[in-house]
Amino acid sequence: MRTLLLSACTLLSFAAVAQNSGQMKPEATEVWEPVPKVINPGTEVLTPPSDAIVLFNGKNLDNWEAEKGGPAQWEVKNDVMTVVKGSGLIKTKQQFEDFQLHIEWRTPAEVKGESQGRGNSGIFMQENYELQVLDNYNNRTYSNGQAGSFYKQKIPLVNACKKPGEWQTYDVIWTAPRFNDDGSLKSPARATVLQNGVLVQNNVELEGSTQYIGKPSYTKHGAKSIALQDHGNPVSYRNIWVRTL
Ligand code: MG
Repeated sequence: MRTLLLSACTLLSFAAVAQNSGQMKPEATEVWEPVPKVINPGTEVLTPPSDAIVLFNGKNLDNWEAEKGGPAQWEVKNDVMTVVKGSGLIKTKQQFEDFQLHIEWRTPAEVKGESQGRGNSGIFMQENYELQVLDNYNNRTYSNGQAGSFYKQKIPLVNACKKPGEWQTYDVIWTAPRFNDDGSLKSPARATVLQNGVLVQNNVELEGSTQYIGKPSYTKHGAKSIALQDHGNPVSYRNIWVRTL
């Protein structure tokens, strides 16, 4: 304490002298201690673990098909797939129930449109439950329709969006809904979602299939595809893999 006081007094008098003499130096405002600790920031790209099914490796759409069957028509270039407006959604050829999904997405760097019209796409769990993809960096829309939401059902805990043109990640833990023989619901779908490593959905229970109009409701189904939405905006995807649970 005494040392600190002395140092402070010394500095003050030095400063006063310097100011009085009109000889303030740049170095007088340099602070060298403490030195910030160097850490290794988290990696942006999570490479697939050894037991993952790689759904898109940047080369082709062999694991995907068009909504009504036939080849997926999205563009593949520079290790990235991009929505081709009007070509329709694409879905995995393989069908899934419970899984862990990693997917990276990027909304256009050139900002066009607003609200739901800006960088809109989406990831449908089992073809029915949309995890919204949208550019919500300084772009207000309804809260249950923004990025990180289960569209019109579950508002994200935070807005963890990066800037348009930057790659973002979703990591999803998906538990499929279960149905009774008579078609009634046995147990609802559940989901946990991290956006860019930040928790946005914490083990939420879904109310049913995503609906644009009206309330969500369940219709009995088994294993289904993972589907990506064509909402007319050139949203890109890369590094997509899944681990079945
Ligand atoms: Mg969407």
